[in-house]
Amino acid sequence: MNHQQQQQQQQTPHIILLASPGVGHITPLVSLAKLLVSRHHFSVTITVPSNSTSPSPTELSILNSLPTSISSIVLPPVALHGLPADAQVETLIWETMSRSLPALRDVFATLSTTHSIAALVVDLFGTDALILGNEFNALPFIFHPTNATTLSLFFHLPDLHRAYSLEYRDLTDPVTLPGCPPFLGTDLVDPMQDRTNDSYKWLLHMARGYMLAKGVLVNTFYELESQVIEALIEENLGTPPLYPIGPITQTDDSHLHNNDCLGWLDKQPEESVLYISFGSGGTLSCEQIFELAYGLEQSGQRFLWVLRSPNNEVANASFFGENVDKVDYKDPLSFLPKGFLERTNGLGLVVRSWAPQIEVLSHGSTGGFMSHCGWNSTLESVCKGVPFIAWPLYAEQRMNGRLLGDVWGVALRVKIGENGMVGRDEIGRIVRSLMEGVEGKRVRDRVRELKSKAALALREDGSSSKALEEVAIQWRKHVG
Ligand code: UDP
Repeated sequence: MNHQQQQQQQQTPHIILLASPGVGHITPLVSLAKLLVSRHHFSVTITVPSNSTSPSPTELSILNSLPTSISSIVLPPVALHGLPADAQVETLIWETMSRSLPALRDVFATLSTTHSIAALVVDLFGTDALILGNEFNALPFIFHPTNATTLSLFFHLPDLHRAYSLEYRDLTDPVTLPGCPPFLGTDLVDPMQDRTNDSYKWLLHMARGYMLAKGVLVNTFYELESQVIEALIEENLGTPPLYPIGPITQTDDSHLHNNDCLGWLDKQPEESVLYISFGSGGTLSCEQIFELAYGLEQSGQRFLWVLRSPNNEVANASFFGENVDKVDYKDPLSFLPKGFLERTNGLGLVVRSWAPQIEVLSHGSTGGFMSHCGWNSTLESVCKGVPFIAWPLYAEQRMNGRLLGDVWGVALRVKIGENGMVGRDEIGRIVRSLMEGVEGKRVRDRVRELKSKAALALREDGSSSKALEEVAIQWRKHVG
């Protein structure tokens, strides 16, 4: 690097982003990084903590396809010893983030000799790192990768913790937060389902950690959640200001292609196909895969199903009896009922583990999305105007499903039985209803309205662009 380039590097305000492990966390952070570079002319380094299983190959391929204008640093892997064998996934992520702090401090120390670091932006699991902002004179911000409703829950969590001594799941009345629909205790985020668990303690710790930020960038748009955003402003809880800057979604997933479902979609009639995916890691039990398969057959509708092998249930061989040919854990298709692929040939396509989701949702043949209600999937589908069948599995997805179905009116919600299963009759009914019923038309019309609002929010003069510009001005000012 010559002297002039060095000077330019030093003059360009630099932002350090801290990702959490997980495709659903890295993806929007990468999109935010691209926006900060292309529209706001910052330089950006994305740092990614690691452990023995993460980053996964998919996460690495996302990082490897970054444009050269964005640097990424995978921090040295941390050992997760000393944790209970049944530690929840949130605990593993928090421990990974927290144990990576010394390595992140080293990165800061190195980068600060060559760059003007204006801000540190951490993903929600990274609140322990906010102190580095103060140590290195960089403004500490949070990127909250999901909606303002869960942000409100986090902001109110210390109060809820004091107010209730019961488990939230045992409450007879719903939890009501200003500007939000009432949520049953069982709908709240997973770490709140057991107050004795470490992941609940981490959540409380994180909720308190949010107070250390100078601002929270929220992956939503004002027009979608104006009520809760206004309520938070009015309540004036002393929490950091929030900036709705979304939808921040990936725009190009072509580097992640590994199958030919787009060619198949090309041959299907317009808006005739139900796309079925449960996110980057969601799995169904063996029994549930069967029910879904038979339900799809009953519906008679076209489908594109991204199928993953069930977790931990391969030993459950007695369930299969004569119903499958031969189970091979490496091949998700082997978990389908015998003859299913032959019977649905021409009507449906089942792909193994991954589909290029953005391109599937953008395709004219896609007419609906059976989704686990992960927030990235939700925003991607809203941006493409595709209505949902909401089938939440974990994390904050039950809250998202309720918002999608009952507040925004863009989804039909599946009825999940007390045993956690969705039966084939229910699946057949709801799929028909979305793809060809009156209810389906209602949610389709409504999602198109939201699509337009999302596009307006992202225009240069839109609410989200203005919110991010406001933040960018603060960051630029900070480094003079
Ligand atoms: N995704 C994809 N193809 C798949 C499954 C997932 O491209 O087959 C992408 C999807 O587009 C989204 C992300 O992975 O950007 C999943 O994030 P989300 O928040 O929806 O769910 P999570 O994986 O975090 O549960």
